[in-house]
Amino acid sequence: MLIDGELQVAAGGGRFDVVHPATEKVVGQAADGTVGDMERAVGAARRAFDTTDWARDVEFRYHCLIQLADALERHKEQLRRIVVTEVGCPVSVSRSQVDEPIDEVRHWAEHGRAFEYVADNGVHDTPMGPALRKIFYEPAGVVGAITPWNVPFYLNIAETVPALMAGNTVVLKPAQLTPWSGSELGRIVAEETDIPAGVFNVVTSNANEVGAALSADPRVDMITFTGSTATGRAILAAAAATVKKTLLELGGKSAHIVLDDADLSASLPLAAMMACVMSGQSCILPSRILLPRKRYDEGLAILETSMANFPVGDPWTPGVMQGPQISQTQREKVFGLIQSGIDSGARVVTGGSVPENLPVGYYVQPTLLADVDPNSRVAQEEIFGPVLTVTPYDTEDEAVAIANNSIYGLSGEVSGADVDRALSVARRMRTGNVTVNGRSHFGIRSPFGGIKQSGLGRRNGDEGFKEYLESKTVGMPA
Ligand code: NAD
Repeated sequence: MLIDGELQVAAGGGRFDVVHPATEKVVGQAADGTVGDMERAVGAARRAFDTTDWARDVEFRYHCLIQLADALERHKEQLRRIVVTEVGCPVSVSRSQVDEPIDEVRHWAEHGRAFEYVADNGVHDTPMGPALRKIFYEPAGVVGAITPWNVPFYLNIAETVPALMAGNTVVLKPAQLTPWSGSELGRIVAEETDIPAGVFNVVTSNANEVGAALSADPRVDMITFTGSTATGRAILAAAAATVKKTLLELGGKSAHIVLDDADLSASLPLAAMMACVMSGQSCILPSRILLPRKRYDEGLAILETSMANFPVGDPWTPGVMQGPQISQTQREKVFGLIQSGIDSGARVVTGGSVPENLPVGYYVQPTLLADVDPNSRVAQEEIFGPVLTVTPYDTEDEAVAIANNSIYGLSGEVSGADVDRALSVARRMRTGNVTVNGRSHFGIRSPFGGIKQSGLGRRNGDEGFKEYLESKTVGMPA
């Protein structure tokens, strides 16, 4: 762990195991940080924010983050080994897990350097005479960052680097299943950058109470969190006691509306691929496919072929695009939801069990469920597995209603030959993001986030950077 500039073990020396999901074997250990360790890390971050120039010295922050990007670049292959080992993500599809986040460090350094931290708000009449108002954008303060396991290195970067560049100090609490992506980031910060002691801290832990302690600590000004909606609710409740600012990126259950004029041979193989890469462990995955009834069988056949032939296997083997689920618990959850679908009348078109040639490792066959009732559990709960549910619809209005029949509102997708019509359907989806005809909404320069129970606030784009700043309006004699 990294606390107050020192790389250290947990108080009392506790450790917990790290398991490689492809072999089910323990491959090493991580420090099992305690609530006391978290309290020391928060204390260090508070002191660094209150007593150093970090919050005010943009050029120094830029220097440190470019140093960090260069250092991460040097350790890129080691970081890739860590991510593949912890997550079971295939090497072949690790670009978004490793290479892109390193580029994003550079992006945030440049963005934060060019950002206008002072804006002129004009002259206003006041009882005491004309007031010149200026708006100063200042860092939120001490930011607690809590991350999940599905894209750990990327999310550690996405949650902490814009926060640091905006002038905050940070305590990162990585997920239990993926502690090394966080601890290695801490090691690189400590040993290869000039980031001052206390500005960036990493506390790994096997206990949820340690994350809970971070979200409840009165010395923390803001919590940035990515994870499940259930944990998001707990964090929001804990943050309420001290009215902390929260940025929450939570679960999703996105729908893909395939319109009756869509090119199925283009959109559906891509939909199948998106369901399988990352083993379906993606929050923005459009996992509910809505097919027009008159093209239902045609669509199912294309999805079946694509999923039945998807390259599943050992994540280290080049060409493999779907690895195991991250843990036995997650795999059981996936199988439990598939079974609940079958119990409520869904039909397994392909998949539904463990691949025969992969008895070891937490693998799940790419699974296609047809005739899925939009109100059933499998259509309502996030699966986080390589599973697509398919439901037929008769009218565009019905498709939109089914898509919006969810507590979530993270993303969605529309496919159709007439782009204007597809866009009008996209506009009716109650989500923060929509992809039309496979052109992704997701990228560092575009705001990303959810509505309804998928979250609060936005990452990425200028909006995402501003989340880590507070505006201060000052009035003065004109
Ligand atoms: P999780 O909610 O179980 O855990 C996330 C983090 O929260 C972990 O670090 C965990 O230790 C910590 N935590 C657990 N209980 C806590 C508490 N009471 N207080 C504070 N912290 C606590 O999520 P997960 O299983 O690691 O990740 C999967 C979930 O993440 C899925 O629901 C997925 O949709 C979501 N996700 C969302 C996005 C997005 O951008 N919206 C991106 C990736 C993942």
